[in-house]
Amino acid sequence: MVEVYKNQIISAIDAHAEDLWGISKALFHDPETAFKEYKACQLLTDALKSSGFTIEIGIGGLETAFRATFGEESNRKIAILAEYDALVGLGHACGHNLIAAAAVGAGMALAALKPRIKGQIQVIGTPAEEGDGGKIILANAGVFNSIDAAMMFHPASKNMVLRPSLACSELKVEFFGKASHAAAAPEEGINALDALLLTFNNINAVRQTLGPKDRVAGVILAGGEASNIIPAHTSAEFSVRSLTSTRRDELIKKIIVCAQAGAQAIGCRLEFKVTTGYKEIIPNKVLAGFFKSNLESLGRVVVDPDPNERMGSTDMGDISHLVPAIHPYLAIAPINVAGHTLEFREYCISDAGKSAMLDAAKAMAMTAIDLLLNPYLLEKAKDELASALKST
Ligand SMILES: [Zn+2]
Ligand SMILES: [Zn+2]
Repeated sequence: MVEVYKNQIISAIDAHAEDLWGISKALFHDPETAFKEYKACQLLTDALKSSGFTIEIGIGGLETAFRATFGEESNRKIAILAEYDALVGLGHACGHNLIAAAAVGAGMALAALKPRIKGQIQVIGTPAEEGDGGKIILANAGVFNSIDAAMMFHPASKNMVLRPSLACSELKVEFFGKASHAAAAPEEGINALDALLLTFNNINAVRQTLGPKDRVAGVILAGGEASNIIPAHTSAEFSVRSLTSTRRDELIKKIIVCAQAGAQAIGCRLEFKVTTGYKEIIPNKVLAGFFKSNLESLGRVVVDPDPNERMGSTDMGDISHLVPAIHPYLAIAPINVAGHTLEFREYCISDAGKSAMLDAAKAMAMTAIDLLLNPYLLEKAKDELASALKST
């Protein structure tokens, strides 16, 4: 029976291919950034509504978040996540236009089958992935409390199901010194820029103790007003990432000590603030196994992530700590083309992008069917997550 359903999913998505591509293109050509994705939210929910979903817009306190629900309230709820925010200044250079259309496609195909299958499908619209953690806000509001498994796809340069992501946080530091005439009375000043430069130098000295996926990148936000005034106030922001949230937190402590040392040497006052950040993805192997074989059945070759795989961070990491989840990647661009570039953006509106979006929609819907028809799989997936969390 599973195979019959899967074939019906493939046919349903093929039949809607041009509609889904139309959604993708509309999002691409009218990019909206974090928390301002009003038109995207409307477009996606209109499409899901016409497939029979019940729509709630503005869930979890976020105006541009939505939940589209299909099927009875039962104890098995599968969430398919849509991202649709664009990058400031770059538009859809991360391919969220493809992610959103794939989620709608998977939802549509499952809704067409649903009357014959027990369980509930939720397509959840999650705004502001690019730095503002929309999914974390939704999770804190309880949106994922009753979800049994969650999945989404992301465009990339390889087909990978088990690629992890880095835990990340941002640390903002501010140094407060004392202004003075830089020529007449430098000795009367307290140079907040020197404290900041020492901080960068201290961090660079600490780099030799960092692991291969530990990342500390900093920018100066305020470096002083004029070269003839001893700077009284400076600030910088550091992006701190690592393979686990625990390791990231250790790194943040090291960076804070670097800043404290810089401040102490000069006699500045230091203030700092750490953002909550994103957790690392724990890819669920039970879900990933089914997604991989479904994707392979569509003719895609899935590769294992390289030990030195390039990685970013995503708020899907936090969701993967709450419920069994996967965040697989489908190739739309050559290996040397990284996301968040103008070059990658071209692939987000290409035939390769369209093909990945359709395959992702199919593989997600097929995986949802595997999970709904074999209830023990969800229990197995939850046990796996529980033991993974114990070991982190
Ligand atoms: Zn991105
Ligand atoms: Zn992205």
